[in-house]
Amino acid sequence: MTLDNIKEEILESKSIVILTHEAPDGDAVGSSLAMYMGLKQLGKDVDVIIPKYSKTFAFLPYINEVKEEGRNENYDLAIALDCGDIKRLNGFANYFENANTKISIDHHKVNTMFADYNFVNPTSPACSQILIMVLKSLGVEITKDIGTCLLTGIITDTGGFQYQNVKPETFEFAAELLSKGINISDIYKRTLKTVSKEKFELRKTAMNRIELLENDKIAFTYITKQDEEKICSEDYDGIVDIGRDIEGVEISVFLREIDENTYKISLRSNDYVNVSDICLMFSGGGHIKAAGGIITDVPFEKAKEKIVTECKKHLHCSDEKWKVNKGFLRKAKEGVPSLPMYLLFI
Ligand code: 5GP
Ligand code: MN
Repeated sequence: MTLDNIKEEILESKSIVILTHEAPDGDAVGSSLAMYMGLKQLGKDVDVIIPKYSKTFAFLPYINEVKEEGRNENYDLAIALDCGDIKRLNGFANYFENANTKISIDHHKVNTMFADYNFVNPTSPACSQILIMVLKSLGVEITKDIGTCLLTGIITDTGGFQYQNVKPETFEFAAELLSKGINISDIYKRTLKTVSKEKFELRKTAMNRIELLENDKIAFTYITKQDEEKICSEDYDGIVDIGRDIEGVEISVFLREIDENTYKISLRSNDYVNVSDICLMFSGGGHIKAAGGIITDVPFEKAKEKIVTECKKHLHCSDEKWKVNKGFLRKAKEGVPSLPMYLLFI
C-alpha cells in the first residue's frame, strides 16, 4: 500500500525537503506548511522550499520559515505536494531528483506519477484534504496552526466550498477544525475576497479585455508583461474565474505573457468541457474544470488562435455529448433509455 510505504519512508528519514508547484496557490502553500509543521512535530530535520509566493499567504503560520533554497543538496527524502508534473516543481526539481527517496502526494487528474511513491487521489478537492489522512496516520496531532493551513488549501481549491468536488468529508473536517477555534471566515476573506490595489488593477485590465467568442460560450482575456510591469503586480490568481462567471460561458481562457512569444494558459469550464484534456495539447494538465498549460514560439495573435481553436473543438464535441446526456437522463427518468444514448452517456 502506498500510504504504508509513505509512512515508513517518512518515519525512517532524517532530512526531508518539501516542494510544491510554481506560482503556488493556497493549496500548494497550505499543504506544504501543514506537512512542514507535521514533520517538525515528529522531530524531523525538514525544509520547505517555495521561492516565490503571493503576499495573500503571509498570514499563514510558519510562513517565515519557508526557504528560497535548500540547505542540503541531497536530502534523505523529498515530498512533492499538489504537483501533477515534475516540470512544475518551480525549477527546483534538482532537490527532488537528488533525494534518496521521492514521494508525491497530489490530487490532479493529470499526474505523471514521477515519484517513487505516488499517493494521488483525483477525487479529492484539495491536496490538503489528502494530507489530513496522511498526517493523522503518521500520528501527527492536527493543531490549530496545521488546521489553518489545511483549511486554507481546502477553501482556496474549492472556491469556498462551492465547487462540485466538495465531499461530505470536506465539511466534516471543516467542522472538526471549527470546533478547535480556527477562524474560517478570516481565511475565506483573506484568500478569496480581499485583493491588493495592484491585483485589483490587474483584474480590471483583464476584465476590460474580455471578449466573448463562439456564441458567447468562450470568454477570452489576457495580460501582457507590460501590464504587469506597469501595474507592479504578478498576482493574476482569480482572473480566469471572472470569465467563467458570465452567464452562458462554458470555457474561460486567460493567457498571460511570461516571455517573448511565450504564454501561460489558464482554463476554466462550467458544465461539460474537460479543460485538462485541452491543456494536454499544450504540455500541461490539471483538473477537469481547472487546468493550465503553455504556448511557446508564437506571437500573441497566433497563440490566441491556437488556444481558441482547440477550445472550440472540445466545446462542440462535449456540447453534443452533453445534450444527449441530458436527453438520456430525462428519458431515463421517464423510464425509456435507449441503447445508443446509453453508449454515448458512458
Ligand atoms: P491555474 O489556472 O490556476 O494556474 O491552474 C489550474 C490548475 O491546473 C491547477 O490545479 C494547476 O496546478 C494546474 N496547472 C496549471 N498549469 C499547469 C501546467 O503547466 N501543467 C500541469 N500539469 N498542470 C497545470
Ligand atoms: Mn490543489
